Order: sequence, then structure tokens, then C-alpha cells
Amino acid sequence: MQINEKLHRIKINFSVTKEVERFVYIYLIVSNYIHLIDTGVAGAEKTIQEYLKSIGRNISEVKSVLLTHSHPDHIGSAYKIKELSNCNVYACEAEKEWFENIDKQFAERPIPNFYTLLNKSVVIDKVIKDSNVLKLEDGITIKVFDSKGHSAGSLSFLWIEQGELFTGDAIPVIGDIPIYISVNDSIETLKRLLCHNGVKRYLSSWDDIYDEKSGKENIKKSLDYLVQINTMVKKIYKGSNNKNMDEIYIQVCYALDLNHLIHNQLCDILPPLSTTFGISQMLMLEVRASCSSNLTVTVSTSYPRAPHGFF
Ligand SMILES: [Zn+2]
Repeated sequence: MQINEKLHRIKINFSVTKEVERFVYIYLIVSNYIHLIDTGVAGAEKTIQEYLKSIGRNISEVKSVLLTHSHPDHIGSAYKIKELSNCNVYACEAEKEWFENIDKQFAERPIPNFYTLLNKSVVIDKVIKDSNVLKLEDGITIKVFDSKGHSAGSLSFLWIEQGELFTGDAIPVIGDIPIYISVNDSIETLKRLLCHNGVKRYLSSWDDIYDEKSGKENIKKSLDYLVQINTMVKKIYKGSNNKNMDEIYIQVCYALDLNHLIHNQLCDILPPLSTTFGISQMLMLEVRASCSSNLTVTVSTSYPRAPHGFF
């Protein structure tokens, strides 16, 4: 799909399990060279190559790959694309080890079928951080924004000349359980994204495309939603006698009218939350809520239950 004269989006479909189908969007800036925002899962390089061929280009022309974060659906084909094009790979410092050592990522965040989605580590050529400005070629200047919260070092990228903002997984989708490792970082990220001027379009990894006005409204709604969930989690956690995470999760879903999230097929292949909770804390899994200033509780609302779980 073509978004502007030089910007394209490709939908990469993949399966987490046989029953759980998902997708991720990747973006291609096609000019004198080709620049990618994320790469999709392992094997996505074939889809990218087919798409590029259809517009008269070739994957060997890829010069840059900018990675929003290290989750498998965003980096799965990065190694292969680098091999085929000798491109530069840009990513954050905080997740460098997860890009460059996927066994470590799997040990710390063991999602189902991990090695099907991501089977080779990729070396980061250029570590980037908030406020960096990357001149990829004439007319393609990218400003980097810290967007952590969803993951330790998530980044957003603003294509300055065109006002296109690539937000990765930083903006939660209403009606789903947001994935974040720090609720406070996620909230701060959303507030910062709201303040950016000169954004013509918001381009997420798995949501609709929003223009400036609807994009800001969407971020505000996401912000409210995140605060609402976090407030409810804290309230129910505090009122719970046995702090059973299964029960808390279910109560939060009912309280917020998210009944459709109570059961998820991923649960069928994984142990119940009550048994995974102890592990999940060690494994730094997903949704956390600060129940007091010095206590952080992993309320496993996203692991393994959320439909989008893990990504
Ligand atoms: Zn993600």
C-alpha cells in the first residue's frame, strides 16, 4: 500500500500458534535508496522483496533499517535483510542485547514459537537515542524520539520533511490490554507524543493510520485508557485478600467491561496465570502497576491472556 509518493506500508501476517493469527505493519521509504521501519518476522524478507519487485525495486537497495524495538515481529527478518543489502541497522541501547543475542531475549521473555518468528540475532550498526537526527539521504531526515514503556527502549521516528511519525507499538489500542513494562514510562511517552508538532500522520505497527487531528485524539483516548486500567488494577489489587493474579485479572476485565479479553487461546497452550505469575515476575513480563510508590506488582493482564499478547 502506498501512503505518500515515497512511503509504502506492507502488512506481514504471521501465526503465534496455529490458532492465533496476527500481523504487523512495516514501512518502506523508497527514494534513491530504500529505508525500512522495522522488518516483520523471520521470512518477511520474501514479502518485502516481492513488494519491491512489484514497484520496480530490489531488496539489495535497502540502505537503512530503523528498528522501533526488539520484539520478534519487528526484527525477525532484520538479519536476512542486512545479509541481502549490507544496510545499516539502527536501534536503541536499552535493548541492544535482545537484538544481538536472541537466546538472551528468549530466556528473559519466552514467547510461544519464538524461534519461528525470530531465528537470528542482528548486529546493531548504529545505536540511536532521543533527539538524534539521522540524515538518511536528501529529503529523508529522521528525528528519533524516546518512546519507552511498551519495552525498555522503544523508539518513534519522525520523518521531518513529510511529517510522518512512526510510533511502533507505543500507542495502546482501546479495547485491548496494553503491553507495557512500565506504566509510568508509557504514560510519559504518550504525553510526549501528544506534544510533537509537525506530525501529519501517525503510523503504528498494527493500528489504522491517523491524520494529525484524529491521531492526537487517539493518543488522548489511549492515555485515558491506560490510566483507567492502571487505576482499576491498583484498586482491585489493594482490595484483594489473596492477591491471586488470575482473579485480579478477571475482576479488572469485568470492571472495565473487557469481558472479551478474559479468555484467550494462548492460555490453552500455557499454564494458568497463577502458576506463571512467579515466573513472570522474574521474566519481566508485561503489564505492571505501581501499587504504591515503592511497590511494583506485575499484574499479568497481558501474559498470556491478551489477544495481542507478547508483542
Ligand atoms: Zn512490541
